[in-house]
Amino acid sequence: MIQEDLFKKIIAHSKEYGFIFQSSELYDGLSAVYDYGQNGAELKNNIKEYWWKAMTQMNEEVVGIDSAIFMHPSVWKASGHVDAFSDPLIDNKDSKKRYRADVLIEEYVEKITDKINKEVKKAQKRFGEQFDEQQFLETNQRVVDYRQKQKDIMSEFVSAMDDNNLERVRQLIIDLEIACPVSGSRNWTEVRQFNLMFDTKLGSLSEGANTIYLRPETAQGIFVNYLNVQKTSRKQLPFGIAQIGKAFRNEIVARQFIFRMREFEQMEMQYFVKPGQEIEWFEVWKERRMKWHLAMGIDPQKYRWHAHNKLAHYANAAFDIEFDFPFGFKELEGVHSRTDFDLSQHEEFSGKKLRYFDNELNESFVPYVVETSVGLDRTFLSVLSACYNEEKVGDETRVVLNLPAPLAPVKVAVLPLVKKDGLPELAREILDELKFDMNCQYEEKDSIGKRYRRQDAIGTPFCITVDHQTLEDRTVTLRHRDSMEQERVAMQDIAQIVREKVDMKNLLKKLV
Ligand code: ATP
Repeated sequence: MIQEDLFKKIIAHSKEYGFIFQSSELYDGLSAVYDYGQNGAELKNNIKEYWWKAMTQMNEEVVGIDSAIFMHPSVWKASGHVDAFSDPLIDNKDSKKRYRADVLIEEYVEKITDKINKEVKKAQKRFGEQFDEQQFLETNQRVVDYRQKQKDIMSEFVSAMDDNNLERVRQLIIDLEIACPVSGSRNWTEVRQFNLMFDTKLGSLSEGANTIYLRPETAQGIFVNYLNVQKTSRKQLPFGIAQIGKAFRNEIVARQFIFRMREFEQMEMQYFVKPGQEIEWFEVWKERRMKWHLAMGIDPQKYRWHAHNKLAHYANAAFDIEFDFPFGFKELEGVHSRTDFDLSQHEEFSGKKLRYFDNELNESFVPYVVETSVGLDRTFLSVLSACYNEEKVGDETRVVLNLPAPLAPVKVAVLPLVKKDGLPELAREILDELKFDMNCQYEEKDSIGKRYRRQDAIGTPFCITVDHQTLEDRTVTLRHRDSMEQERVAMQDIAQIVREKVDMKNLLKKLV
C-alpha cells in the first residue's frame, strides 16, 4: 500500500472505530489536539501499563512517581526552558501562514534526498545486478553535487543558529528560493524565536497572580523530587525514577495527526549514576529501550538509531530511536546522557543542595543522569500503523489490527450465534467469568461474519461463539484473529487458554 494512503486510512480507521477523535470536533475541532475514544483509551492504557511495568516492576532499582503538571516558575528558569525552549519562526506575508524556519530548510534538504534516491533507482535499473550503490553515491557527479549542497546548507544553518543569527537563517531561506507552499510566494518576514511553553495564571488577579507554565516535559518533576525519592526509598546509585504524564507545547507546525500534538503524553525515566559511569549506563539503556519496542513483535526494520548531529551543550551523548511512520522515519524516543546539568541548575536556582552521599567514597556529589524519553502518543501511532493490515479473504477485503494480544483494547468478544434458545444466557455465563481478568465485549447483533470483521478491525485477538452444540456439550468455537482458525474448546478451558495469551507477562518476559 502506498504510504500516504496508509496514513489516510489509519486516520479514518481511528475515527470510525473509536480510537481517536479530533478534539472539540463539534465546534470544528481544535488544531493538534486529539481525544482518545473507547478503544483508543484502552490501547493507550495498555501501552502505559507495558511501559510502567517494564520500567518499575522489571527493574528493582527503578521506582515510579506522578508529579503535578504545575510547577514553580523558577523550575523552568533553571531548566533553561524560559530562555531557550523556542523554535525559529517565519511568516509568509501573502498567505499569512507561519512556519518553522528549521523545518522549511530541512524539508528543502529532504527534497534533495528524494532527487538522490531517484538517481539511485534509475542507475539500479540501468546496471542491474552489478550495481554498487555505495560506489555510485560516491562517484556519480550529479549525486556528489547534490550531497555537497545538502552539507553546505546544513552547516550554514547550524552555524547561524549557533551564533543566534536569525538574519542569516532568513537569508538562507531566501537564497534557497524556498516558497510558501500555500501562496507560492517568497515574501517572508523576519525570523523570530517563539517560546513553546503555554503560560497561565495561578490565583486570582486581585491577589496578584503569578505566571506559571504548563510543563513542556515531565522530566523536571523527577529532577526536583530526586532527593525526596532517594531518601524515602533508600535507593543507592544507580537508581531510576519513572513517570508518565501530560506535557504541553505550543507547536507551530502541528500536523501529522497524533505525531505532533500541543497536548501529549510522555513516558520518561531519569537514571541517576555516579559521574564517570554515565556512558556505560547510556549504552545499557539504549539496548533496553530498543528491546522494549522490539518485544511488541513489530518488524525490526521499522526502527533505527539516529545519533544527534549537534549535542545540547549539557549532553555528552544522545541518540533517538526513529520509527518508520507512514510519513517516513521520524523520532519516537530519545535516549540522552544529560550529565549533572539539570540537578546542578536546580541547586543553583533553589540555593539547596541536591547531593548524593556516597558511603563507599565518603563524599557527596551531584549524580549524572541518563534519560529515556518516549512519547506515548507516538508509540500508539507506531503500533497502530505497523499493525494495520488489509487482507484479501475470498472476494472480500478484511481490515485487521494485528496488535500484540496484551495490548489489544478488547481481549475477547463473546458472541451467541442467535439471540434465542438460551444461547445469550450461556454467552453471558462465559463473559461473567472472564470480565474479572480482562476487557471483554458481548455482541449479538448482525451475522457472525460481520461481528468477526468488527472485532478484527479493533484488533480483538479472540472471539468465542456460542451455538446450539454448546447447549448439548458445553463446548464453544474459539476463533483466532490472525489465522482466522476456529477450534472447538470446552467452556471450562476457555478462561485459561485466553488468559495465558493476553497476559502482559508475555511481553515482559521478552525483556529479560
Ligand atoms: P521533535 O524533534 O519531534 O519535536 P523533540 O526532540 O522536541 O521532538 P523531546 O523533547 O526529546 O522531543 O521529547 C521526548 C519525546 O516526546 C519525543 O521523542 C516524542 O516521542 C515526544 N514528543 C515530543 N513532542 C511531541 C509532540 N508535540 N507531540 C507528541 N509527542 C511529542
